[in-house]
Amino acid sequence: MSLPADYHMHTPLCLHAVGEPTELAAHAVKLGLKEIGFSDHSPMPRDGFDNWRMKDSQLDEYVARVEQARRDHPGLVIKLALEVDYLPGGEDWIRHLATRHPWDYFIGAVHYVSESWDLDNPAKISEWKNRDPMEVWTVYFERLTMAAESGLFDIIAHADLCKKFCFYPKQDCTPLFTRFLEAAKRHGVAMELNTAGLRKDCKEIYPSPAIVQLAFRLGVPITFASDAHAPTEVGMNFPEAIQLARSAGYTHYLRFTRRRREEVKL
Ligand SMILES: [Zn+2]
Ligand SMILES: [Zn+2]
Repeated sequence: MSLPADYHMHTPLCLHAVGEPTELAAHAVKLGLKEIGFSDHSPMPRDGFDNWRMKDSQLDEYVARVEQARRDHPGLVIKLALEVDYLPGGEDWIRHLATRHPWDYFIGAVHYVSESWDLDNPAKISEWKNRDPMEVWTVYFERLTMAAESGLFDIIAHADLCKKFCFYPKQDCTPLFTRFLEAAKRHGVAMELNTAGLRKDCKEIYPSPAIVQLAFRLGVPITFASDAHAPTEVGMNFPEAIQLARSAGYTHYLRFTRRRREEVKL
């Protein structure tokens, strides 16, 4: 079985990943992957916004390292991308980022549910303990819906990242999921199946089977993502992700070139 493209991987420039792009690419070749894409955490308008991303001045260096991986592995298709944090009001910055290099795609991600709380940050897990999970999930999915509607992104990252530490609402969240997925469908945005969730407390692919099934029914296309922060994580658990996609009904996924999409048979 040939593995789909792994479109989500990081580099040491984000300060919490190991392995140069060429090392991740080497692992991809070993696994038999035909295509990968680097999508490191994008710079923010202000350096020092947080401590888990490259500085603005490092963007060219990032592109150079991805280009090195391309030269070292001519048989592997390597896409150039970013995982871009969506915060309301940050749209102009993202439009500016888009003009700076010939990106193949932008992955829109919500980590921040306020200016200062990145809800997947283990150092801030105590924030969860003071809040009703439903309130946090509601803000999270509202922002994810805005990201899908913004027209700035080709793919939405880890759609239920809010489950990472297992703070699950008691209420039914289907309306939150539906609003997000309808927006994604309307604006032609894909959703990634991200296996990093299997490596976290939630022990489940992002997003859950319920969301993947709803996405298929609503006609939202998908991509595949390991969210690798180390060479050995490239393509990790892809057979499970393929199984999840197929069981929901998916027969195709998307690949992107210079922000144009193409369907590929799964
Ligand atoms: Zn990361
Ligand atoms: Zn992320």
